[in-house]
Amino acid sequence: MPQLIAGNWKMHGKLADIAAYAAALRAAPSGPALAVFPPFPLLERFGAALAGSAVGLGGQDCHASAQGAHTGDVSAAMLRDCGAGYVILGHSERRENHGESNADVAAKLGAALAAGLTPIVCVGETEAERDAGLAVQVVRAQLAHSLVPNFAGHVAYEPIWAIGTGRTPTQADITAMHAAIRAALVETFGEPGAAINILYGGSVKPGNAQAILALPEVGGALVGGASLAAADFLAIAASAPGV
Ligand code: PEP
Repeated sequence: MPQLIAGNWKMHGKLADIAAYAAALRAAPSGPALAVFPPFPLLERFGAALAGSAVGLGGQDCHASAQGAHTGDVSAAMLRDCGAGYVILGHSERRENHGESNADVAAKLGAALAAGLTPIVCVGETEAERDAGLAVQVVRAQLAHSLVPNFAGHVAYEPIWAIGTGRTPTQADITAMHAAIRAALVETFGEPGAAINILYGGSVKPGNAQAILALPEVGGALVGGASLAAADFLAIAASAPGV
């Protein structure tokens, strides 16, 4: 599977930003798969601007129900309707700010898969958990309780203390955690678990992307802040192995 470079705009951006950004991504030389995750109000116009290109589009979350009385929420089918093919689930900002549990993530994952979306399920430890030597245990528990038996998609390892901080784990720590995640995926899913892309996320930038993307079992990157400028996002993509 080619690497995936995913850009999470979080709660940034406006309609006027879309045309130039989409044009830059459309003009990118061939390389890893690209996908952009703008806020919900930008999805439909982004979808139109990327139509016919290989660049993927996704939502940053979805509800576990197909429809209903859920003020402020968006269903997986609504994301599809706006042109999205992906969804990020269980981002640490959702887990922290909205109290999402592993069970919530699993329920959303079921809805996303039923709607035909490709999920990126995020896992990662806090700094205190890492300092206590619990990082692998925490991440294994998140995987065990967030993923569902018919899972098909990507996993993103995002140490919470590295998100938006400019700090990254050592290359040895990324390698060790990605190996642990791979082992857990193969234990759970057998052979298909060996083919699941494991993205790294947490302060990926043009300056560190090449080293991170070349590490064993790193199948791409989930990029927050550095995805907001198309030039930085494309520089990260150009750092993928083989490009
Ligand atoms: C993220 O939001 O998933 C993320 C990794 O953010 P940043 O790249 O800004 O650390």
